[in-house]
Amino acid sequence: MNTRRKFLQQTLLGGLAVGSADRLFDTLDLDDSKAPGTFPVVISTWGPNVKANAAAWKVLSAGGYALDAIEAGIHVPEADPEDTSVGYGGLPDRDGHVTLDACIMNEKGMAGCVTFLEHIKHPISVARKVMENTPHVIMSGDGALQFALSQGFEKEDLLTEHARKAWEAWKVESKYQPVINVERHDTIGMLAMDTQHRLCGGCSTSGLAFKMHGRVGDSPVIGAGLFVDNEVGAAVCTGLGEMVLRTVGSFLVVEEMRRGKHPQKAVETAVKRIVSKYPEQSKDAQVAFIALDRKGRHGAYSIHPGFNYVLYQNGENRVIEGASFLKT
Ligand code: ASP
Repeated sequence: MNTRRKFLQQTLLGGLAVGSADRLFDTLDLDDSKAPGTFPVVISTWGPNVKANAAAWKVLSAGGYALDAIEAGIHVPEADPEDTSVGYGGLPDRDGHVTLDACIMNEKGMAGCVTFLEHIKHPISVARKVMENTPHVIMSGDGALQFALSQGFEKEDLLTEHARKAWEAWKVESKYQPVINVERHDTIGMLAMDTQHRLCGGCSTSGLAFKMHGRVGDSPVIGAGLFVDNEVGAAVCTGLGEMVLRTVGSFLVVEEMRRGKHPQKAVETAVKRIVSKYPEQSKDAQVAFIALDRKGRHGAYSIHPGFNYVLYQNGENRVIEGASFLKT
């Protein structure tokens, strides 16, 4: 084991159990000649978002705009009552409210975000309206709801019977403890580049299940949950938002790519930063990043095993198991 690796293994992890140091830098095939990036391309967090990727691809393969692809793709889990981490059917906060966070960012570096939004099934579209129809970046809570209504969105009850029952069951013990894979969250983060090489991204979530009323995670915060720089690349993440907010994770990934790193190395740097800052919290919490650079190359990495993502490229929509920092 070379000295640098030994140093990293010792300093980054402290007491955590890692696999062999040789696997510390577990990566995708970084040989670009074997894996050239092609366009269009779309990548999303979590395997169940394969349908979202397909919806985005439909727009991209017809020569459409990456931002439209992001919006169409994210609409899929937002409308799906079975997806308990996003939009309609999302698990409520501890007071029984479904509160949603979302953001969107385009190739010009413009962004729109909504936080703590209730009663609107498609927060990603409200975020887009914030970007396009206001001089602001973030709108929150009741103000965001009033804005959405003024833009023609419909007020709906987003708490499904299934989510209500899960909340009733949770109330028996009322124990809030974010666990590995964050209750197997399927929060959607999506990055896409279209045939004109316009790079855009979006993220939408109901946040942590049974969170404190008013809690906002990383997902709607530009730089934390999502960052896009058309000259360099884009990154988005999922997992325990507090750890990402404190490290401005997605911005870090893009800045690493700006310094010439392959997206895979860039996401590994961000995960390692989190683990080194919060070794104790990292034992029980998951964070995963995906990234896409201007060349169409991607990266994916998480703290714990169990994270997968979906890549639609070269006409193929594939669910891929991501590499992780910890091996068990
Ligand atoms: N990052 C989201 C949050 O903390 C949750 C998730 O991605 O699973 O709200």
